[in-house]
Amino acid sequence: MRKDLVMTAALGTTTSTKRKPDLGPAIELVSKEEGHRQPLAPEFVSAEDFSPLDVAYDFGRIRREDIQAGPNNIWRYKGLLPVPSNVEEIPNTEPGGTRLIQADRLAKALGAKKIWIKDDTGNPTHSFKDRVVAVALAAAREFGFEVLACPSTGNLANAVAAAAARAGWQSVVLIPKTLERAKILTTAVYDGALIAVDGNYDDVNRLATQLAGEHENWAFVNVNVRPYYSEGSKTLAFEVAEQLGWRIPPQIVIPIASGSQLTKVDKGFREFAQLGLVEDSPYKVFGAQATGCSPVSAAFRAGLDVVQPVKPDTIARSLAIGNPADGPYVLDVVNRTGGAIEDVTDEEVVEGIRLLARTEGVFTETAGGVTVATAKKLIETGKLDPDVETVLLITGDGLKTLDAIDGKVGPMATIPPSAEAVRKVLAEHGR
Ligand SMILES: *Cc1c(COP(=O)(O)O)cnc(C)c1O
Repeated sequence: MRKDLVMTAALGTTTSTKRKPDLGPAIELVSKEEGHRQPLAPEFVSAEDFSPLDVAYDFGRIRREDIQAGPNNIWRYKGLLPVPSNVEEIPNTEPGGTRLIQADRLAKALGAKKIWIKDDTGNPTHSFKDRVVAVALAAAREFGFEVLACPSTGNLANAVAAAAARAGWQSVVLIPKTLERAKILTTAVYDGALIAVDGNYDDVNRLATQLAGEHENWAFVNVNVRPYYSEGSKTLAFEVAEQLGWRIPPQIVIPIASGSQLTKVDKGFREFAQLGLVEDSPYKVFGAQATGCSPVSAAFRAGLDVVQPVKPDTIARSLAIGNPADGPYVLDVVNRTGGAIEDVTDEEVVEGIRLLARTEGVFTETAGGVTVATAKKLIETGKLDPDVETVLLITGDGLKTLDAIDGKVGPMATIPPSAEAVRKVLAEHGR
């Protein structure tokens, strides 16, 4: 533990600023279950009904032209996010603006008509987590926090450490000690406080919740400022809709860890439709999990509306949350839109990674392997219509999970530097 952090906490620095926070169009927090309203604050559970808190807005009028005039990153949608009106002027990692590619070769391999890949490996720390962290940091600054913190399954650690470095903040990142080596190093390099915990993610998350209560100036992005953090995932929906020419895709496949992203992509589509930015057309949301950590998929299959926690055991560590906070809300979204949830084995995850690489030249991490493999399974089982256009969210970069393919791919041979030897190897492999 860093001494300076302990000292600040001991001095009892409070997070309350005197002025009212400028969080743009955000006006209040509202409880998810019974709709109790309360002022904007760094809180995540309703004191009235104990359900999670969500941000409520007064959007006013937002036109396509206003959005198009903005920067090519998530701040072009600042009018739909709980962030200050000058957010893009404060140093930040500027996430978003990632490419949407038409994946014809993947579509052919899956027997589908048209597939799009939203390639979020192109973010500053190579996963979609940069989006949620940038929004969390912007809100946390308005609340007067001074330290950015998180419990993480990997990508969040990268995003928090980098965003804090760029903003000149201190960071405290807690990770399960079993995290992939690449994700540990790519967090440690930003030189914040990084602490490995002897336990799984759910243990680390519990520890973070305790610390958030004890250190008033620590903003745990996915704990005490979670309502703001999770809104950042809406930008995936906004970008996809805008990149498709201002329309909602009829089918979308989304990986599930805590379930936050999936519920917020749905919220993003609904807000765009409510504001008249896109036509209010029907769409189906599909969820993807690894079988080794598939509590939401299991609940969906059993027709339940609650999620039984599990102990994760999968190579898809970025999705390994055994007790997903937004699990029940994921079930709501999937059931309301007529989608489905499936899970795939670790073997299928690796096949999914390799299929996407081979067909589209996109190298995703295990979470993307889960998404591709689940899309395949959903098509094979007739749950996802192959004749209807489908977007796959590829949320993270394969360079961070090299262990998953280590020993499964590699050079065909090691040869002396001779042209003849090259031709011989190629012939042997039928290339
Ligand atoms: C965190 C994460 C997710 C899922 O996020 P939730 O919002 O917690 O469901 C998906 N993909 C990657 C690569 C992630 O790091």
